[in-house]
Amino acid sequence: MAGYTPMIQQYLKIKAQYKDCFLFFRLGDFYEMFFQDALEASRELEITLTSRDGGGEERIPMCGIPYHSAENYIKNLVEKGYKVAICEQVEDPKAAKGVVKREVVQLITPGTVMEGNMLNEKENNYLASITQWTNTTFSIAYADLSTGENTTAMMNNGWQAVLSELYNRPVKEIVVDSNLADSYQNDLVEKLQLTVSYQDEVHVSPTMKPLVESLANERLVETVGRLLNYLERTQKRSLDHLKKAQLIELQQFMSLDMYSKRNLELTETIIRKGKQGSLLWVLDKTVTAMGARKLKKWMERPLLQTADIEYRFDIVDGFLQHFIERESLRELLKSVYDLERLSGRISFGNVNGRDLIQLKHSLQRIPAIKDVLRQMDHKTVQALGEALNPLDELQRLLEDSLMEDPPISITDGGLIKNGFHPKLDEYRDASQNGKKWIAELERKEKEETNIKSLKIGYNRVFGYYIEVTKANLHLLPEGKYERKQTLTNAERFITPELKEKETLILEAEEKSVELEYRLFVELRERVKGYIPKLQQLAEQISEIDVLQGYATISEQNDYRRPSFNNQNDVDIEQGRHPVIEQVMKDGTFVPNDIRMDKGTNMLLITGPNMSGKSTYMRQLALTTIMAQIGCFVPASKASLPIFDQIFTRIGAADDLVSGQSTFMVEMLEANHAITHATEQSLILLDEIGRGTSTYDGMALAQAIIEYLHEHVQAKTLFSTHYHELTSLEESLTHLKNIHVRAEEYEGNVIFLHQIQDGPADESYGIHVAKLANMPNELITRASQILQQLENKPVEATPEKENDQQLSFFVSEKQKQTQTKPHNDIVDEIKQLNIMEMTPLEAMNQLYQLQKKANRQ
Ligand code: ADP
Ligand code: MG
Repeated sequence: MAGYTPMIQQYLKIKAQYKDCFLFFRLGDFYEMFFQDALEASRELEITLTSRDGGGEERIPMCGIPYHSAENYIKNLVEKGYKVAICEQVEDPKAAKGVVKREVVQLITPGTVMEGNMLNEKENNYLASITQWTNTTFSIAYADLSTGENTTAMMNNGWQAVLSELYNRPVKEIVVDSNLADSYQNDLVEKLQLTVSYQDEVHVSPTMKPLVESLANERLVETVGRLLNYLERTQKRSLDHLKKAQLIELQQFMSLDMYSKRNLELTETIIRKGKQGSLLWVLDKTVTAMGARKLKKWMERPLLQTADIEYRFDIVDGFLQHFIERESLRELLKSVYDLERLSGRISFGNVNGRDLIQLKHSLQRIPAIKDVLRQMDHKTVQALGEALNPLDELQRLLEDSLMEDPPISITDGGLIKNGFHPKLDEYRDASQNGKKWIAELERKEKEETNIKSLKIGYNRVFGYYIEVTKANLHLLPEGKYERKQTLTNAERFITPELKEKETLILEAEEKSVELEYRLFVELRERVKGYIPKLQQLAEQISEIDVLQGYATISEQNDYRRPSFNNQNDVDIEQGRHPVIEQVMKDGTFVPNDIRMDKGTNMLLITGPNMSGKSTYMRQLALTTIMAQIGCFVPASKASLPIFDQIFTRIGAADDLVSGQSTFMVEMLEANHAITHATEQSLILLDEIGRGTSTYDGMALAQAIIEYLHEHVQAKTLFSTHYHELTSLEESLTHLKNIHVRAEEYEGNVIFLHQIQDGPADESYGIHVAKLANMPNELITRASQILQQLENKPVEATPEKENDQQLSFFVSEKQKQTQTKPHNDIVDEIKQLNIMEMTPLEAMNQLYQLQKKANRQ
């Protein structure tokens, strides 16, 4: 450090404590960054890099941003996953001896942002923490600083389960012990794209103790402690709105592994990563931000207790029966402000008058919401209304205290109503009276001097003055007026009388603004006392919003209330895929039944490519999830078991990102299902084995089927292009063949998308190849080969009537030019247009070729 100026030394000292942050170092009206920070920030933020002399040998790289526009720059960095430490001048520079004292006042990190424009209003913004206890045991905690949510859970199923738990949740940052294994830390960064932060002290400070008192398990206390300590360290201010840590028993919810969450596209699509096209996109008919967040949360944790689910169904039913009232309810809900995030901001001390007016308006809606719920002739719905507390007292307080249209600033007055505080009224009177007195003085002066254009004005520098145009100066009597300022064509004067009044007016105004600010802060503190009640209200309103949304979508899309059975019986009549149905929009989606009674655990699905196998499988999973989050389902009738877990291996999503081969991913996903599924689980395996050679893949597929059938006995849908597997129905009693029907019409395949019993016809591959516009010659050839294989006589095709070399045995002509006997196969391979083929088509071709080769 030697050689650096005192300020740079101060910078380096502070920076050493915030190595993993950009240090925004306040220097007058700017936040400056130095050294490495400056190099990186200038690149990330596209701002000019300069340098300054800092006393050392070389100039120091530097870049800066004006403090008043810092928010956007901070947002930019935080969205990219960086952390920003805000370092302010904490003493008046004028009063400072030597270098101005500076301190970091707040850390803004991806998991702790509070500012409205950095948050997605329809999503939570979680900071998580994890602690490892054994090889397989972890504990996890979540907090959302913007809403006050604070939850924790034990996890006993190893690291993969931890990743699955975190996957696809709106977690932005994770706090871990600095000794957590590097490979785990890498997973958090690379697989989940999280910002990792460290906090080793887990002991809960006395002020935070009440937040963990309900937790019986010391491990959970420590995990929450890690998170709270991190928050305390970074935020350095009130966290009064954080709720008491609540234990989530993960066994009480359906669990979805990482693959299923992704493959089923519950909240975002695989390719585009957006909400559009996901199940959430179809289901979200909420009208408040709180409701939207709640729906997402419910989708992340489908329920397992029938009674809890039926309770939601009941309310949806009630809402469905009362269309008119439901519409009024929707309208009313639209004007309810985000009470949850507002509570957070109140506690943080960054609400203004307008926020509190919005709060007042929201509270004023509650009685009407209660009314409309009461009007619905439905007990459960009415009870919802009864439970709402409109917080009359708070409403009255806000009504009495706040002006209807306050300014954004809370330091310039104009916030507090007359009549709220006697002293304030007094100041206001004084200033008003003073102003009246001045108006009166102006009138009097005009009269006395006989100068019609005389006026009294005010400016910040001179205060009140009397202004007389130059032409009229001669009319002013001597002595009484003191000249203050000369303009081009007027002079400004003051009188002792005027100055005296001015002092009174300005004093009153200054005092009134000061008092208003104090009253506002007091008001904010009083509102703070209502935070738990506001949070409860937010909770209730968001649930009502989600449930009205379920009813709205159920009516729009004709969903029906499912029932649950304990017989492990799936019986869906005329079911539809909730998302594809909407995307097709024209009503052309073909409904299908899904039936798996107690004795049937596995459906083996065959059928042409593009016929609807994957859709059918996903349809069951999505229907199940919809039912277990309490929504009605896309079917004319449905009786379902409660599934404890869903596992999927769906062909479409090849794991390009992680760089693992498709086949390896396939095996990982299948293995995950095999090892964790129970009899109560649902497994979807879509074309397993196609990533490897035919026999290899087929052998594996069969072994997996047999294993699931014998040992796991979960409800399983297994689609396959290995037609040979359909014969398993004979030996495996709980397995049933079904297929998707396709018909041939004038030589083309028509997809009917209809599911029927029994295995599919084998020759569909060629039809698909034809649909894919493969060369006619190739199609013809394939048909002939197939016929050969099936030992049918070869038919000559019209175009090649006179060609004698139609069988796949080597032609005379070929024999002349080729030496080896198998070269017809080589020719065939040469003719394949591989670039135009799908993997499945290629696989089919290869399969046929290999079959042929084996016979030779
Ligand atoms: P497969 O898995 O058999 O190759 P998919 O399930 O991927 O076929 O379905 C292919 C396409 O067929 C879907 O994208 C959809 O457009 C259409 N489809 C599938 N099932 C249906 C259905 N029941 N009704 C209407 N169209 C369907
Ligand atoms: Mg498919």
